[in-house]
Amino acid sequence: MDIPNYGQPAPPFQPGYPMNPAMPSCLPYQPAMNPAVAPGYYPSVNTNALAPQVAPYPQFAGIPGYEGLAGDSNHGKFLPPPPAFGPEPGNVPTPTNRDWSIPSISNETAKHALQDYANAQCCYGSSPAEEMEITQLIPFNTYRYRLETFTESRTCEWVTKPLSGDALDSPEKGPAPPPWEIHVKTPTLFHDETEKQPVPHTTSKKSCQECNGKGKIICQKCNGNSQVKCDDCNGSGKRLSEECMSCSGTGTMGCKTCNQSNVQTCPGCNGKGQVMTFIELTVAWKNNLYEFIPDHRSDFPTDLFKKVTGEKMYSDEQILVPPIMNFPDVSINQASQTAVQQHYSQYMSTCRILKQRQTIELLPLTKVEYSWKGKNCRYFVYGRENKVETKDYPSTCCCVIL
Ligand SMILES: [Zn+2]
Ligand SMILES: [Zn+2]
Ligand SMILES: [Zn+2]
Repeated sequence: MDIPNYGQPAPPFQPGYPMNPAMPSCLPYQPAMNPAVAPGYYPSVNTNALAPQVAPYPQFAGIPGYEGLAGDSNHGKFLPPPPAFGPEPGNVPTPTNRDWSIPSISNETAKHALQDYANAQCCYGSSPAEEMEITQLIPFNTYRYRLETFTESRTCEWVTKPLSGDALDSPEKGPAPPPWEIHVKTPTLFHDETEKQPVPHTTSKKSCQECNGKGKIICQKCNGNSQVKCDDCNGSGKRLSEECMSCSGTGTMGCKTCNQSNVQTCPGCNGKGQVMTFIELTVAWKNNLYEFIPDHRSDFPTDLFKKVTGEKMYSDEQILVPPIMNFPDVSINQASQTAVQQHYSQYMSTCRILKQRQTIELLPLTKVEYSWKGKNCRYFVYGRENKVETKDYPSTCCCVIL
């Protein structure tokens, strides 16, 4: 098999890689069914969708592991994860029964929270917070469920760069390792990151197409005319109705980019006339988040929970976490089931799942009803930080005479 467009003799065949350096090729992910997944554990996975694709391009047919190569040139090639990285066999322990009881805040805490809040606002009088009478504390405590799925995906495509001066890691040095066998750094779990590196033994030299191997191209600044518009008078030859000194009134000046030689060094090859072309591997790590907060049946704006932390009640971290089954709030169980299933079918088909983390936090939320000077008002205390949300604080401007 020849690799087209090489200036050098065709390098040995690279099993598993796109063959045409001129056209970045994309091989769709060809997932492996993971034998370690307990049958029936993830009933929603459509195994037909995971079957290897038929190669649409005859030149790629028969390349071991890359039979699914497609013609979409905007994406690199994805490869199935080796079984060793697959999930552990089923029978993953579910959260143990524990005391899920929900604490509620005291009058004192509620009062302090409002005082702190009023003091922190430049225009709020502190009197209501100090003098109010709490009439009722109503807990609306809720939960935040999170599933994080940390994935790795690998893509590769042909790239062309100027020669580096180092010895070329050419195909003569051996077969290119399959993308998933290339050693990459250990990622920080649950953090997004991308790394690029050349695939070993895929680098070849070829003639630079930008300059046809000459190392020089027509000057891009003057288009080979050796003259450019004068910068100082913008080509008019005049500055404030006087003749431009810089160009003696001609409006043009000699091109400095090429020193009037009409040519410049080719940027594609840095003037060497030859470039190297190789397969570049891109490894992308991504933390995919599913978040759910059940309806707390209050008029508190749920979005505000984003700014606070909760009390961690449950955390489970493994390659594949099982859905939570026995949490007292059934909507959490349902969310967990949906999330686990959704992430599994979404990411197993495109990436390798390295780790999942599932957490439940208790989000404290208390509605405080109080009266002050005959007025009935209310506020919410939320989060571990005891933040306050209030719409009807009775003293919101310094100009109000109390
Ligand atoms: Zn020029
Ligand atoms: Zn001028
Ligand atoms: Zn060039």
